[in-house]
Formats: sequence, C-alpha cells, structure tokens
Amino acid sequence: MNQENTKVLIIGSGPAGYTAGIYASRANLNPLLYEGQQPGGQLTQTTEIENFPGYPKGIQGPDMMNELREQCERFGTQIRNRIIESVDVTSRPFKCVDERGDIIMADTVIVATGASAKYLGLPDEEKYRGMGVSACATCDGFFYRKKNVAVVGGGDTACEEALYLSTICHKVYLIVRKDYLRASDVMKRRVSEKENITILFNCNTLGLFGEDGVEGAKIIEHKGTDREQIFDIEIDGFFLAIGHRPNTEIFKDKLAMDSEGYIETFNGTQQTSVDGIFAAGDCCDPRYRQAVVAAGSGCRAALDAERFLMEH
Ligand code: NDP
Repeated sequence: MNQENTKVLIIGSGPAGYTAGIYASRANLNPLLYEGQQPGGQLTQTTEIENFPGYPKGIQGPDMMNELREQCERFGTQIRNRIIESVDVTSRPFKCVDERGDIIMADTVIVATGASAKYLGLPDEEKYRGMGVSACATCDGFFYRKKNVAVVGGGDTACEEALYLSTICHKVYLIVRKDYLRASDVMKRRVSEKENITILFNCNTLGLFGEDGVEGAKIIEHKGTDREQIFDIEIDGFFLAIGHRPNTEIFKDKLAMDSEGYIETFNGTQQTSVDGIFAAGDCCDPRYRQAVVAAGSGCRAALDAERFLMEH
C-alpha cells in the first residue's frame, strides 16, 4: 500500500477529464488522472464525430480520445489505468483509495466519471449480454451484417443507432414506447425516410428468446388497453438506446445530486456541495451530454481548482 499527495486528482478520462488534465498540468499543478473503467470514455465506442469544433472532416471517436490523452501527457499529467474506489469527502486533503488499496491524499478532486447506458432491467438482457444484446450499435453493429435487429428508444440516440444499423443490417425495428419519437426533427425525418427501418410505436419489450443467442423478441403493443396485443419479431440483435445514468455511485450521500444521480454544481461554477471537489462532464450534465460541453466544463473545473488552491 502506497500513499502519495497530489494537488489535483482527476477521476475519469473522457473529454471532461482530459481537458481538466490539460489545463491543470499547464498551470503546473502536476495533476494525477485515473482513467477509470473505460479509458477514453464513451467516445471510444463511437465511430465518426462530426460536431466537435476543429475537425472539419470529422474524426473517429477513439482517435480523438488518443489525441486528447497525448495532449494531456505532453504537459505532464500523470495518467493511470486504474479505478478510484472511494473518496473520503469529510476532511481535506481528501483521502482517495484506488483498486489496489493505494492512497492518494488530494487537495482538490475533479470528478469526471461520465455516464453509462441504461438497460430495461429484463432478466433476458443479462442472459443474452454479448450474445445479441448490446448498448452500442457502433461497437457491435458489424456482427449483424445483413441480419434483422431492433433498437429500443425514441430519442436522438435511438435514431442515430437505428440509422447507423440500417446501413449494415437487412432490417431495423425501432421499438418506441410512446406514439411519437422524442428525437429532433432532423433525426425523425431521416429515420422515417429509411426504407429498412420499421418504427413500432406504443410498443414495449416483454422478453427475448433464442437457443444460443437472440433469435427474437416478444413485444406488447398498446399495453393495458383494449387494443393490447402480443407478437414476436425475428431479430438477431437487440440494442438499447434509452438514455444514460451518471457514474456517480461512489459519491452517493457524499455530494449533492439530483434524483437521477447527477452531481449538482453551484454558483455558475463546477464547484460541488463539498469545497475543493469539482465535477465536470456527463456526470453533472443531464441536459446537453455533448463532448464539446464536457470538454468546456473540464476546463472550468480545472480553473476552479486552480483558484481554490490559490485561495487556500
Ligand atoms: P433521451 O432521454 O432523449 O431519450 C430516451 C428515449 O428512451 C426516450 O424515447 C424514452 O421514451 C425511451 N425510454 C426510456 N426508458 C425507457 C424504457 N424503460 N422503455 C422504453 N423506452 C424507454 O436519451 P438520448 O440518449 O436519446 O439523448 C440524450 C440527449 O443527448 C438528448 O438531449 C439528445 O438530444 C442528445 N443527443 C444528441 C445527438 C445528436 O445531436 N446527434 C445524438 C444523441 C443524443 P419516452 O420518450 O417515452 O420517455
């Protein structure tokens, strides 16, 4: 068990964490950055990123994250491929313990732990995980070339995933629980114009079936009404796109959060309810969830941490 001190501990390695690393290292704060469970964060599971400023021709998600990591290291951020398991927020410096039991005494902490895809909670999702069930079309879509798949959800993510899969797969069902898509108009239009996407409105999934993997889904339409009916669709892949939940479990009952677990920040800054702990990126952003916004808040958190260290 080792113990060390740091002025800034950054937890997370998405656009927020790496941007905080760039700013904190350029301010000579020698930050320590723990990459967490998914180094590079959610964008490592995307293909093309077309809306991050500065890449007029777009860039692949994993390439962008590699470049951000490199930029971070160039100014001296120490990056560790490990997980922080607990943070004692009751006294400063904050005692943070990693998966090996090593202790980091941090004067400030920047929480940039991101968010993860939600699942419906069906036992079959567990049963067929990796055997037809996925929450990332761009990671796993390739396995379903020329096959039938379903995407669950009616938001922009679901539409994006359905459109992506429609270029690879034979047929895509979009399972939407309401009688409308919540997605933006442009996405709605693109999805409705695709001949091989069938939208199943007012539908929920009861379960999945198949011998060695998913072979179909049992769907209930107009649940609880006199028009209720149950039918099967034949699919090989079942993709979840019903939103995300913030990765904030280790801060439960320690930092103020909303009912969904998003960390609250105060006074127009990235300051959390505990002095010296800052939050950035999707873990504190239920609204925008965009890489460029996460990067911006990572910059803000680093500047807030720098100011805090000067004042204390
Ligand atoms: P959203 O929260 O916008 O949508 C989630 C969808 O999943 C909704 O249609 C919701 O249904 C449905 N859903 C939730 N829980 C269940 C459930 N248990 N069973 C069935 N359906 C369920 O999440 P997104 O990830 O789509 O988007 C999040 C944010 O990111 C949005 O602001 C979005 O605009 C943005 N975004 C932007 C993109 C872009 O601009 N290119 C791409 C992707 C995301 P219901 O409508 O009934 O609540």
